Amino acid sequence: MKKALSVLLTAALSLGLLVLAPITAHAATIEVANATQLADALNAAGNNTIRLTANIIYDDSIYIDTAKTITLDLNGKTLSVNNCVALYGGAKLLLPNPASGQFNVSCGNYDTITVVVSGAGSKLEVTNVNYTTADGGDAACADWGGEIIVYGNVTSGRNSVAAQFDGSKITINGTLTVPADRPYITVGMTQKNATGYTTPTTKTGYRTYTDGTDTVWVKCNAHTPGDWIVDTQPTATAAGSKHKECTACKYVTDTQAIPATGKFIKLWGKTTTWLDNFGNWLLVIFCFGWIWMAF
Ligand SMILES: [Zn+2]
Repeated sequence: MKKALSVLLTAALSLGLLVLAPITAHAATIEVANATQLADALNAAGNNTIRLTANIIYDDSIYIDTAKTITLDLNGKTLSVNNCVALYGGAKLLLPNPASGQFNVSCGNYDTITVVVSGAGSKLEVTNVNYTTADGGDAACADWGGEIIVYGNVTSGRNSVAAQFDGSKITINGTLTVPADRPYITVGMTQKNATGYTTPTTKTGYRTYTDGTDTVWVKCNAHTPGDWIVDTQPTATAAGSKHKECTACKYVTDTQAIPATGKFIKLWGKTTTWLDNFGNWLLVIFCFGWIWMAF
């Protein structure tokens, strides 16, 4: 009986491994040193890691419309895409280590969107985005639940960034630069200027631009400290603490101790020790002395 069970278990486990094997076999690390190798790696099936072994200039567009996750290991190198990047249908292009290397997308094609990420689950992580001309195009658009994270700057010669419909999200960790006569940000169907952020922010350190459904967060690079906020009230013997935070992004701009109130403050309150009473009487005598001298 025991042996039969063991055989059965072994058979079940082997079957399980057989089923699992084809799923995990797709994930691979593909090293690329030029544009041709990169194109092949991007088109390969499965959730692969693409590791750069050289700086690459890529003049084609990147278009992925299947629900696969491509991890871009920049490996300290720079990938310059001089065209647009479009992710659809749950496609992900991610930078696990954004501080190592750069993935820059720069496009000057007439009336195109430099990076577009569309559909729930679709996600793009990129270093810098630049729409280089004034010919009708956009820097970035996340729509129908898509998400874009820019670790560096977004610059556009024409239209800015738009997060539109179904909870689409864009995060910009650097600066956002657009022509003065163009909308700074579009969320849903609402256009916002730079001061049109919503408070309180939903991401500390960032200005939040939202219509309640779609959101763009832009790193706050010029903090506006508000009034002091008391964290701990001081007591007679113990110091308290207070801080100021940016009214736009809640970043803590200043922290200070509040001195202990001391025993003399107790003059009109309760005094319990001889030292308090002595100190208070000393203060009374001092004050009366001043008044006596003044008259
Ligand atoms: Zn701020």
